Amino acid sequence: MDPFEEKLQRLKEAFDTGKTKTAKFRAEQLRSLGRFLQDSSKQLHDALHEDLGKVTKLSSAFIRKEPFGLVLIIAPWNYPLNLTITPLVGAIAAGNCVILKPSEISKNTEKVLAELLPQYLDQSCFAVVLGGPEETGQLLKHKFDYIFFTGSPRVGKIVMAAAAKHLTPITLELGGKNPCYVDDTCDPQIVANRVAWFRYFNAGQTCVAPDYVLCSQEMQERLVPALQNAITRFYGDNPQTSPNLGRIINQKHFKRLQGLLGCGRVAIGGQSDEGERYIAPTVLVDVQETEPVMQEEIFGPILPLVTVRSLDEAIEFIKRREKPLALYAYSSSVEVIKQVLAQTSSGGFCGNDGFMHMTLSSLPFGGVGSSGMGRYHGKFSFDTFSNQRACLLSCSGMEKLNGLRYPPYSPRRQQLLRWAMGSESCTLL
Ligand code: NAD
Repeated sequence: MDPFEEKLQRLKEAFDTGKTKTAKFRAEQLRSLGRFLQDSSKQLHDALHEDLGKVTKLSSAFIRKEPFGLVLIIAPWNYPLNLTITPLVGAIAAGNCVILKPSEISKNTEKVLAELLPQYLDQSCFAVVLGGPEETGQLLKHKFDYIFFTGSPRVGKIVMAAAAKHLTPITLELGGKNPCYVDDTCDPQIVANRVAWFRYFNAGQTCVAPDYVLCSQEMQERLVPALQNAITRFYGDNPQTSPNLGRIINQKHFKRLQGLLGCGRVAIGGQSDEGERYIAPTVLVDVQETEPVMQEEIFGPILPLVTVRSLDEAIEFIKRREKPLALYAYSSSVEVIKQVLAQTSSGGFCGNDGFMHMTLSSLPFGGVGSSGMGRYHGKFSFDTFSNQRACLLSCSGMEKLNGLRYPPYSPRRQQLLRWAMGSESCTLL
């Protein structure tokens, strides 16, 4: 019998009720915590004395943001330039040296980065290294001061395990299945335009793309013609000839995606051409939760629609799964959007749009749980690549005042210490 199981379950259930999120609850609990410290001061004092025989002051406190040192940046293939350069900017801005490992799969971009980038940067501080899983595995045996990884959750675990060997801090920018809830109050055409654009952008090979739609049976029926309309306007009658639709990165991913076309019922698209690694913008309807297309991140131009009977059922569906990188909710009711936001968790959230939240440098970008950890973009990149060193500079004189800290702790001295610790200018033990 696991001694922790019942307690953990109880706390998880309490968290799911949402009670810890209200401002009232948090204020109450913090006040209670304050009361505990006050009411139990004698017992705590005695306990601390028993445990540690244990008493700092007058100084200036500051945070010094300093570079970690040697940073490893590992990038994926789907936005092979953006996802190497954006973290690199943060790492350089914060003052680090960097080993950059682009994806071997986007081999042309990898080659350009390896050949040209070093000509522009100080080669004693910045290097591009090449290779796939084996070489990256070798690289990860070395001790870095920070690792910034973008890629799949599967490889994220490998990177995290390697970082753990050296206790190296990491950022993991991972992926997963991003839900998109559409309620019955929406204009189906507006939703279809936005969902189709974000789903089929880069042939669906985008970590923040809406992965699947959750909606009622009625909304599914209204969305299908609207999605068809959007797809035809964006990519023409034969999307294969459209210069605006990308191709699947390689044969392996093409085959994987082709295998998903058999799920549910094809309502739009479904065609593929192996020679061109082309998969048509596809909509699958009446998809069941248990089907393969709902088990893995799609990362391609396929959009399953899964029907639910209510908003609550949609929220339950989302919560049963790993926390996504992005979550989308479409409704003409702000209350509905707020409810989805309040009762779920994800790295990012966008109401009535696709991944626009990711384009704002004022917002931190990253995942939570299996979609990753850590944040970047804009100033958040600078902070990510900085060690926020907590510093205190004490005065070399004023020993009489500082003398208060030293034992023996008479009742008078304890009283003075308590007063001093309560004042803003003082630092505590
Ligand atoms: P991936 O995890 O297969 O590869 C990412 C990097 O890890 C590559 O540089 C690769 O060479 C390296 N790698 C692969 N296998 C390895 C191993 N066994 N040991 C060590 N290193 C290894 O990911 P991918 O296929 O390049 O990219 C797709 C994934 O990335 C998707 O899951 C997508 O959602 C995610 N992604 C996330 C973001 C984000 O910002 N959160 C952005 C883009 C892509």
